[in-house]
Amino acid sequence: APIEPLIADPLPRRPTVGVDVGGIVVGGGGPVVVQSMTNTDTADVDATVAQVARLAQAGSEIVRITVDRDESAAAVPRIRERLLRLGHDVPLVGDFHYIGHKLLADHPGCAEALAKYRINPGNVGFKDKKDRQFVQIVETAIRYGKPVRIGVNWGSLDQELLTRLMDENSTLAQPLPARAVMREAIIRSAIYSAQLAEETGLPREKIILSAKVSNVQDLIAVYRDLSRRTDHAIHLGLTEAGMGSKGIVASSAAMGILLQEGIGDTIRVSLTPEPGGDRTREVQVAQEILQTMGFRQFIPIVAACPGCGRTTSTLFQELAETIQADIRAAMPEWRERYPGVEALSVAVMGCIVNGPGESKHADIGISLPGTAETPSAPVYVDGQKVATLRGPDIAGDFRVMVADYIER
Ligand code: SF4
Repeated sequence: APIEPLIADPLPRRPTVGVDVGGIVVGGGGPVVVQSMTNTDTADVDATVAQVARLAQAGSEIVRITVDRDESAAAVPRIRERLLRLGHDVPLVGDFHYIGHKLLADHPGCAEALAKYRINPGNVGFKDKKDRQFVQIVETAIRYGKPVRIGVNWGSLDQELLTRLMDENSTLAQPLPARAVMREAIIRSAIYSAQLAEETGLPREKIILSAKVSNVQDLIAVYRDLSRRTDHAIHLGLTEAGMGSKGIVASSAAMGILLQEGIGDTIRVSLTPEPGGDRTREVQVAQEILQTMGFRQFIPIVAACPGCGRTTSTLFQELAETIQADIRAAMPEWRERYPGVEALSVAVMGCIVNGPGESKHADIGISLPGTAETPSAPVYVDGQKVATLRGPDIAGDFRVMVADYIER
């Protein structure tokens, strides 16, 4: 029988209007941008600068900070200046709720220092003040030449709009399930707000939309529909994704499906950090989603087998971890010195069953002995066996070979 062509490649990216966020282009066919958010009190300049710097170093291309009161708005220009002095020209996005219109009006330094304003249409104001306060923020964005993200969130949805749609739904001969009405309310809130922003004079190339929910199926449905009904740049994210592996799995499942369908111009993985936990984890996960799906390359990937009953030695797990840590530590320098190093692949395998095959597919790979007693480990470079490592420091010898390979 003839070989069937594979049809599982990602769909072409949905065409969206590109938005320049402080020099980083979101949408318009550009690479999917990784962004994150601080959890420091923005009024605490030292803590916020330190966290933004860590996030930027980890690869966050845009960083959002909370601007919730006068003290935090006043701190924004100082944060931006300090970051620039440290060499971090990362665009800062101000996250505004309730009083954003007032904070931006009262703190022109903040309005200028931010690269984008995030507006939540669900809490920008109440009743008759809602549109007026929304328009005030948009007018500030126009005055300062800044883009906005209209970020609708399931947890703070415009209750008036929801009630109206629920009422309309109840009059239908066959009312839709409440969940479908909620989804529609989220989408309409985003689209209505974008229209209002455009009517106010903000051009399309200054508007990004997001519509976040915490349930994977709802998120996929909402974003599919939203991207069908608008060509605004799309910010993807699961809100309140959760802790640990749950948050990572839910974000990967939801965003993986949408990205595969060509939906999404920038992503944020919202993970609940453990107390004192490392905030950069969400940047790493976002990068790994994009890299494992083949959309972008950030860091050489170390492929390692899971191990099984054939392995009585933990050498390969330890070596895989060490190599990945070596690479992470060296990346800031390697990026400068070896453009394209991100595409490198390394394999660290546990035994001869899949070891040689997987190692040959990688740029450099090692097939370690399955047992501690077996003393030899073939190494493959560009698909060819180039050496067999023996002796007490196979791991150390392989680390040197990886470094040499990159150097060459
Ligand atoms: Fe087990 Fe070998 Fe496969 Fe690793 S490569 S999972 S050790 S059979």
